[in-house]
This record gives sequence, structure tokens and C-alpha cells, in this order.
Amino acid sequence: MLFLGFLVKIQIIRKFMQIYLNNSLSKSKEEFHPIENHQVGLYTCGPTVYDYPHIGNLRAYITWDILKRLLLSQDLKVNHVMNVTDVGHLVSDDDFGEDKLEKAAKKEGKNAWEIAEFFIQVFKNSLKELNILDPTNLVRATDTIKEQIEFVKILEAKGFLYKTSDGLYFDTTKIIDYGKIANIQNIDLQAGARVEVNNEKKNITDFAVWKFSPLDAKRDMEWDSPWGKGFPGWHLECSVMSRMYLGDTFDIHTGGIDHLAIHHPNEMAQSEAVTGKVQAKYWLHNEFLKFEGGKMSKSSGTFVTLENLKEKNISPLAYRYFVLLTHYRKSLNFSWEAQEAAQNALLNLVKSLTWYADGGQVNKEYLEKFYSALADDLNTPQAVAVLQEVLASDLSDQDKLATIYQMDEVLGLDLKNLKKQILSLSAEEKDLLTQREQARNNKDWTLSDALRVRLQNLGVEVEDTAGGQKAMRVKI
Ligand SMILES: [Zn+2]
Repeated sequence: MLFLGFLVKIQIIRKFMQIYLNNSLSKSKEEFHPIENHQVGLYTCGPTVYDYPHIGNLRAYITWDILKRLLLSQDLKVNHVMNVTDVGHLVSDDDFGEDKLEKAAKKEGKNAWEIAEFFIQVFKNSLKELNILDPTNLVRATDTIKEQIEFVKILEAKGFLYKTSDGLYFDTTKIIDYGKIANIQNIDLQAGARVEVNNEKKNITDFAVWKFSPLDAKRDMEWDSPWGKGFPGWHLECSVMSRMYLGDTFDIHTGGIDHLAIHHPNEMAQSEAVTGKVQAKYWLHNEFLKFEGGKMSKSSGTFVTLENLKEKNISPLAYRYFVLLTHYRKSLNFSWEAQEAAQNALLNLVKSLTWYADGGQVNKEYLEKFYSALADDLNTPQAVAVLQEVLASDLSDQDKLATIYQMDEVLGLDLKNLKKQILSLSAEEKDLLTQREQARNNKDWTLSDALRVRLQNLGVEVEDTAGGQKAMRVKI
């Protein structure tokens, strides 16, 4: 009977839910309908693995994790694909300059393969620390070289390419609405003024799909191809992988706002040239994280990584909480004060949960309100506000906990574990608590206070309640 009740509840919620997403392609908010019933194909542009990601890069993956968890919460199956760029991303984001990995390798006295291996692990660890669900497929560009070459062959056969002295280029004038996602005509003329111009390119927006290895130097990463030894252009891998794993047309394509001007128009152009179909139905872009108003960069000393946060006792999950407090399409301003505030807010939230016991019922009204906030183009600040409403509500403590845990399936703050973590004490700490209890039974207040201070120094807070001592670690 209980199980049946649960099913009925989920059905009511699903009927209630309609997800609206701000589609960069149509430039408006649209109701989301998956192509296949109960199944969503989701593609996320992944990292270029040549350095530690700064926390601004990581904002994107937190955002798309919320989207994925929301879809999962509505009983949809999500096939999530993310690429890892380990070759071909040049320093300029365009077709000039050195390959980011080869450059980093030279600097570190390693080869590009070692650099890739190391920073892929760093990236995976970052996802774990931020409680981001693993993609269904996380695919390295260098693992799809054969497929990328096949893709270029199709582009060539269809007449979309031309050759220059340094590579094969895609002629963007062959696509009628090239750049439709970004009003590219205006954007790229400005970009062209800033970057070095390749005189052999027919149009400023044309881009390389295959670059030739330099004649005078050997690259760490290069492959034979019908056009000579070389490596794929950066944009190619996303077109190839999304098609391999999700088909010609899939549901949602996500990425950072920095991809809107170059990477995504190029990806779309290649895919549509090969398949003759729209690559993705919905395109979503997240805004940047700014460092006290400016761009995060190494040169200005404003490059903050998860390690830097941890050095200052800010947990990665507190950063996740900080990200949720701003809508993904608004730029987010980083400051250390804001990180500390997020750290304290999350700790206080977890502390308040320690007073509630398991075994309650999820409150349907609050849960629906929460889902509808997120269904409105991922309004995470509103969703967090609903969670706070539950805390302040007159629900029973147990129902509050059950409802908040259910919401956390989407927010991904890992509250259940954090609660467990702050309540788990070492043998030494437990021993001090026992001693303190005895001191209190003996009315030895001086000893009891001294023991409280010793526990405090170990990071454990003790409160005396009607039911006895309540101790918890005040760090997450
Ligand atoms: Zn991409």
C-alpha cells in the first residue's frame, strides 16, 4: 500500500511539471519536450586539460549537473556526454597560436600525453568534490581520431572544405544561416580585429577542421590522415562525439557563454553540413564568474582553484551552494567574503538538520513549489529559498528532513553525508564528552567548562540540551 501511495505522488508531481528553458537558438524561453519519451540526450562541452580548472570554469559543470538532476527527478533517463579536449585547442581559441597542451608540456618538461593524463584526473576529482554526477560518457578527443577523420572526409566530399598551407578549412559561406545562434556577423568582425588574421582564409569566420603538423617540428600528438600528418581542429570533436553517442539530433546542448561566439556556431555548422539536420534542439549557456568585477586570469593573480578554496577552509560544496544562489544566466561575482558567507550558511543549514530525525514524509506542496522554481529555466536561487521556507515552516521535524533530503537530490549539496560527517566524532572526542558528562553529574562546573574548551579546540561544539550533551563538528 505504501509503495502504491508513493507512485501516485510521483505521478501527480510529474503531471504538474513543465520544464521551460531559455533556448539560445530561439533566444526565448521554451517548453522542453524530449525527442524520445522519458529519455534525454544531453551534451556538455567539457574542459581543455592543460591546467587546473579555475572555479569559474567549474560553475558550468555545477549548473549542468542541476539541469541533469532536475531531469532525473522527473523520472527521465539522461544520456549525458561530455568531451575532454586533449588536443587541438589553440591558445587563441581560433586557429592561431600553439596547442594549449603542447605549450603546457614544453613548459613543464613533459609530453602532451602526460599533461592530459594528469589534468584529466584533476578534473575528475573536481567533479567528485563538487558532488557532480559523472557523465554517462566522458570522452577524450584523442580517443575519437578515427571517427573525426571520417567526419572530415564527409565534409570534404560534400564540398564544404578548402585547403590552405596550414590545414583544411570549413567555408562558412556554404552554410546559409551560419552563426544564427550568436548573430555572428557583428561579433566576429570585432573578433577579427583583435586576432591575427590568416590571409589564406577565405572568410574571417572560416575555421580549421584539420591542421597540418609543422614541417620543422614533431608534435607529441599527431596522426596520419588522407591530407597529411596533423591533428583535428578543436571544434570537430564535439560534432563527432555528440553524433556518435546521441545521434544526428539530440535534445540539449550546454556550454559556457564563451562558446557562443566561435565554438558553438562552428560545431553547429559542421554537424548540419554532415547530417543536414539540426544538431540540438535546445542550447543553454551559463554566464561567467567574475573576480571582484573582473575576469579571472592567471596574469592578474585572480585565478582561484578548488585547492585555493580549501586552503582557506572553504569547502567545494560551499562553493556549489554559492553558485546556486545566482541564476546561471547572470554573471556571478566572486569575493572571499561571499565564499565565507556561503561556507557559514551551508554549515548552519547542516547544523539545523542535526536536530531532525529520519522517518518523515516528503511534503508534496513544498516539493512541487521547489520543482516548479527549477522548471522555470533553472531558477536555483528560488529553489534554495523554497528549501529555507521548509526549514522555517510548521512541518514536523521529521517531515522537514525528508522534504529537504528530497530537494537535495537535485541541489546536490550532499546534505545527508554532511550531517553524518559533522556528527561523527573521534574516539578521543567521545572520551572527552564522557568525561564531561561525569563532571556535570558531579556538578564539577570548572572541569566541565575546561573540557568544553578542549573540545572546542578540536573543532567540536557542545550544547547542553534536555536530552543531555549534543556535540557536533563545526566544520564541513
Ligand atoms: Zn564543444
